[in-house]
Amino acid sequence: MTLTLTVHRGTRTIGGSCIEIAGPDGERLILDAGLPLDAPRGMSGLLPESLDLTRPATLLISHAHLDHWGLLQELPANWTVWSGAKTAELIRLSAEITDSPITRRIQTWHSRSGSLSIGGFTVTPTLTDHSAPDAYMLRIEGFGRRILYTGDFRVHGRKSTLVEKMIAEPPKAVDVLLMEGTNLGTDKPVVTEKALEDEFVALAKETRRHVFVSWSAQNVDRTVTLFRAARRTGRNLVVDLYGADVLRRIVDGTDLPVPGPDFPDLRVLITPSGKRLYTRLGREDYVTEMATKPFSTSRKRLAGEPAIIMLRDSMLKEFEADALGFTPEDAYVFSSWSGYLDPGDPTSGWARARAAGAKTVKLHTSGHAGPKDLSRFASAIAPKALVPVHGLGWDDPGIALPPVRRLADGEVWALT
Ligand SMILES: [Zn+2]
Ligand SMILES: [Zn+2]
Repeated sequence: MTLTLTVHRGTRTIGGSCIEIAGPDGERLILDAGLPLDAPRGMSGLLPESLDLTRPATLLISHAHLDHWGLLQELPANWTVWSGAKTAELIRLSAEITDSPITRRIQTWHSRSGSLSIGGFTVTPTLTDHSAPDAYMLRIEGFGRRILYTGDFRVHGRKSTLVEKMIAEPPKAVDVLLMEGTNLGTDKPVVTEKALEDEFVALAKETRRHVFVSWSAQNVDRTVTLFRAARRTGRNLVVDLYGADVLRRIVDGTDLPVPGPDFPDLRVLITPSGKRLYTRLGREDYVTEMATKPFSTSRKRLAGEPAIIMLRDSMLKEFEADALGFTPEDAYVFSSWSGYLDPGDPTSGWARARAAGAKTVKLHTSGHAGPKDLSRFASAIAPKALVPVHGLGWDDPGIALPPVRRLADGEVWALT
């Protein structure tokens, strides 16, 4: 009755996660099949060499970030794939937009699905707090063992109570905790989304014209933060066609803002590039539907009404061409990981805002737990062994942890 655990990729890297749990008869669960963060999208041959593709397996995807599902299309067609229902929607949307649509079936669970029986394993997905919506921790029981995989998580986002609840009432008798450690050894800011909301409110109050914000449309916690900041300062939040598409795909069963009569202060900006994108995807109907609703807006209309406006670098030219360029009375906020910002790039929103005399600010908080919360979580779960994944600082974590079992990528550990 021996179970084996193999971290194919992720014991010493962030991203590209891929973990295997195999039963005594060879039955296999694969947790995530992520694209390494430094790998160009679309490049093939990136699956970990230690992952055996000749035998069947079931893939469980923890959440919709590319470093957890990006190699999905490279897996054998006969492998079964599972993810959260909204995660599957977001994966399909991301794949379509980059012209590499997902052609395979993804079976889905919901946040209240309870446990799934997959062969000799019982899998219990538990909704968690992360910068991707519909992110799950996965509890896997079978063959006398209990394993908890955190996926990516934090305890300072808008769903922190989900993790606090787990800390207060931890699952019992966990043998192995596979925990992410992205923020070990870093001094990345770990403020709450609520505190960030207050900072956006302060900025909107002192800004005479627009607050332009660059953030990931799939970071829905951030969209909510911005929506609330807009509402508190009497402004509209303006998202583009893609931002609206993301919200509409995941709104079911939530109180998320979504374009429509219930949220009159949420507007959808129709731009030529947005139209081109959705026409290319064969979704002209979506553009027509959005463009004919009262919540749709245009660059010209926005020029005269101060708002909080989603702005990606790819939209800069069309904003400038139609009366929505930066002025000294605007603010530009970079609200993503600062590693994605090259302030020296003269074509970036940051540089163009500076050149125009607009205020530039970084307002962001990490999608991952800080060291203290990692320690608090691991201590509460109190596993027999903690297996580090998704981190660079695990050799010298500098925090109190349960007994750590350090594996190498591809090393097979028999849980005897
Ligand atoms: Zn990740
Ligand atoms: Zn993630």
